[in-house]
Amino acid sequence: MYRIFFMLMVLFLFSESKAQNPFEEHYCSKANLKSSSFNPMMRSYARTADYDLKYYRFEWNIDPAQYYISGVVTPYFEVRESGFSEIYFDLSKAMTIDSILWHGQKLGFDQPAEYGLEIRFPADIDQNSLDSLSIFYKGVPPSSGFGSFIQTEHSGTPVLWTLSEPFGAQDWWPCKNGLDDKIDSIDVIVTTPEIYRAASNGVLISESQAVNGKKTYHWKHRHAITPYLVAIAVTNYEVYEDIVTFADGYEMPMVNYVYPESLTQAKVGTADNVRVLTFFDSLFVEYPFKNEKYGHAQFSWGGGMEHQTMSFVINYGWGLLAHELAHQWFGDYVTCGSWEDIWLNEGFATYLEGLSRERFPQSNNDWYNWKLSKINSVTSNTGGSVKVDNPTSVNRIFSGRLSYNKGSYLLHMLRWKLGDATFFEGLRRYLRDRKYDYATTDQLRGHLEHISGFDLTSFFEQWYEGQGYPTYNITWAGTSETLKLMIEQVPSHPSVSYYDIPIPLRLNGGGQTQNISIEITGRTTYVEVPADFEVENVLFDPELWLLAKSNVEYDESLLTSVAGTNEQKIRIYPNPVGEQLFIKGLTDQEIQYKIYLPGGQEIISGICDQNRQVIDTHVLVKGLYFIECAGPEKTDIFRFVKGE
Ligand SMILES: [Zn+2]
Repeated sequence: MYRIFFMLMVLFLFSESKAQNPFEEHYCSKANLKSSSFNPMMRSYARTADYDLKYYRFEWNIDPAQYYISGVVTPYFEVRESGFSEIYFDLSKAMTIDSILWHGQKLGFDQPAEYGLEIRFPADIDQNSLDSLSIFYKGVPPSSGFGSFIQTEHSGTPVLWTLSEPFGAQDWWPCKNGLDDKIDSIDVIVTTPEIYRAASNGVLISESQAVNGKKTYHWKHRHAITPYLVAIAVTNYEVYEDIVTFADGYEMPMVNYVYPESLTQAKVGTADNVRVLTFFDSLFVEYPFKNEKYGHAQFSWGGGMEHQTMSFVINYGWGLLAHELAHQWFGDYVTCGSWEDIWLNEGFATYLEGLSRERFPQSNNDWYNWKLSKINSVTSNTGGSVKVDNPTSVNRIFSGRLSYNKGSYLLHMLRWKLGDATFFEGLRRYLRDRKYDYATTDQLRGHLEHISGFDLTSFFEQWYEGQGYPTYNITWAGTSETLKLMIEQVPSHPSVSYYDIPIPLRLNGGGQTQNISIEITGRTTYVEVPADFEVENVLFDPELWLLAKSNVEYDESLLTSVAGTNEQKIRIYPNPVGEQLFIKGLTDQEIQYKIYLPGGQEIISGICDQNRQVIDTHVLVKGLYFIECAGPEKTDIFRFVKGE
């Protein structure tokens, strides 16, 4: 999901001084949130855990000129427990149940609360059996969240769409309204006046002849789908297809349902989006719904929503289309397993939009400017975690600053820390492992740790659970042989004592440039780096790898000061390394070291029994390595790069 409106607001607000978190307020007021005492997290997970959804057939009658739905929904379910005498669904009490049929027999039911439908069977249904029932219902659905059921007009023509994320599926159909059971397969059959077309998930397998002025559109989707991604949109669409040709030559349609007045712009945007689709397909794993389609249906909500195989979008801008497309992998194929983990959807979709700009710049410095805008957004406030601390709040779940922008930068910093090859391979493994299912942040972390050999516990404590960001105050001075650096880190929020991530610096002098990376292991780090030339200036993070602020100053007094303030630290240098790598322990005790590849394969190991020891690194080929240094009191792992 992506709200254009709030993203523009963020940019606008940078020119304002220190408004008190106005982004969230505005977001709230625009979101038209349902105000009620209903707590969506209190839905009856416990009451729906005794069955597993296998299939739904949705048969709906929709006239986009009317705010109304009627139809029949037929879920197939497998019974998980013995003593199964009733079945429970989440459904708004505003929906009128006409009847519930089970093997030709009418069943009794209750709608006990604002949301809830209890259906009683005449006798227990056997454990492990597959059964089904049909719920005939109608009514005027409430519209919660971002507008779960909306009827309005575009250019004077009626349009009706649904957008259920996060809690709104239960407003308009009987469901399990949570993140615990994907429906394995669905058919969506919509009957509507013949002047309209209905768009939905999967493949359109039939469009009937008009009967009594109405047509029926039958969409079939044979992949697991979470309830909030089931969607319909109905209006006077124009339809066209782009063809996506994959690297293996396989062709798949990109099916576009467009307002007639938007046809020209749409064709430009979707043709561009085809390139992004094949890029994501090659960078991550195969497009997950390749045997069906990808597509867009236009709606008038202020952004986009990644309905599985059919994103709903307000327009055809590069960023919006890239974001919703990215969700087909991160959000739809693999879905966040709790609303606390929404960044697994939104942080990824935001980051993948950035990657699409890195790969296909849309303007000068597009990728750099994208990164800068994310840093500026996050650092506009000193607090806030990627982890959603109030998962009952729709505003907090979809916080643009935290779930989207800080989430995307968490990923960018992991990429910096792990290196491209390891980072992307870790993501591929995560996707393959969690395919068509739900995932947690711990599962993502596990894959990245396994592939990198890193313990990422502290990284996730600081950047996922912890709040804020660091400011680095860097002072430096150098001679033609040595560069001395004092790096002090000031966290913006007391929940994190210091942030554990190597910091990139660029050294310039005498027409030469050197990029180095400094491992930070505390609030203050003092390092001496052998210099190839006399440094004239030091730039902090010129490529914007880190979510941070910085101040860099020359301080001549460093030249005469003795070793810094963190004597207990093990240090390695230089980085990138050439023929020799130095370990400095600052104690007389031995340090055991081990150099290994990102996959964990050990290359060199040994023991330092002096303060300072040289490791011959000429045997290493160019690339990323890790060195584990086990001292008397602690073990440090450093990342370093072997240069030319
Ligand atoms: Zn999104």
